[in-house]
Amino acid sequence: MELQEISWKEGIQLSEKIKTAVVPISACEQHGAHLPLGTDFFILDCVQQALKMDLGVDYPVFFLPIIPVGKSPEHLNYFGTISFSLSTIAAVMKDICSSLAKHGIKNIVFLNSHGGNSDLLKSISFDIRADYDVFLYCINILGEEIWDSAFVNGLFPEVSYPEIHAGSLETSVIAYFRPDLIRTVPGPFTPKKEFLSVPFGWRTEDLSEDGTIGDPTFYSVEAGRKAVQYAVKKLHQIFDFITAEGSDLSRG
Ligand SMILES: [Zn+2]
Repeated sequence: MELQEISWKEGIQLSEKIKTAVVPISACEQHGAHLPLGTDFFILDCVQQALKMDLGVDYPVFFLPIIPVGKSPEHLNYFGTISFSLSTIAAVMKDICSSLAKHGIKNIVFLNSHGGNSDLLKSISFDIRADYDVFLYCINILGEEIWDSAFVNGLFPEVSYPEIHAGSLETSVIAYFRPDLIRTVPGPFTPKKEFLSVPFGWRTEDLSEDGTIGDPTFYSVEAGRKAVQYAVKKLHQIFDFITAEGSDLSRG
């Protein structure tokens, strides 16, 4: 159910049964010279469209529109990257959640397609849970909870460098969903600097010349189709849990 397509009166009736809302968030950031700035937006749009088909029109979830900007400071030196600051994005998500809670929503899913949003969303979900009578779920479709490394490695066994940004996985989904937006795909990637085994703050240009961090050379339309299908299956299972058992706020 698209929140934007119903009237407020229909919403009152529907909200007697629908207690779950999805807040999708992506990013507007460089994705190498071969992919568009809206790559994360298009990937989320593609997965969501397929998910909605799979769930069916009467599935008890309100989908909000996709937020097209996320937190992308690491890419800001590349043209067209638009980044929210940490405090802006926290405020935006909290305001959306407080509005939803006011209208009786009990479960809120942050459905995210940009790794750079992930830690922040997880962190503020605890603050929102403390302040409002809602349960928060944070799903990063590019994280282990959906496109897990076993699946990605199986899909692209020959890649020369793990997918961090604009590699074979993201390129495949764009090739499947928006083939008109693919430019010339670069060769295998060699990092300018090796990643340490501990987290560290980086700017994209520390690691890459053209903004790609990963090996996009094994992308294919078929891999994109498989990845979307895999994501939809896992998301459907998670949504079934959230809308059934997950709506019981008395759980421990
Ligand atoms: Zn991306």
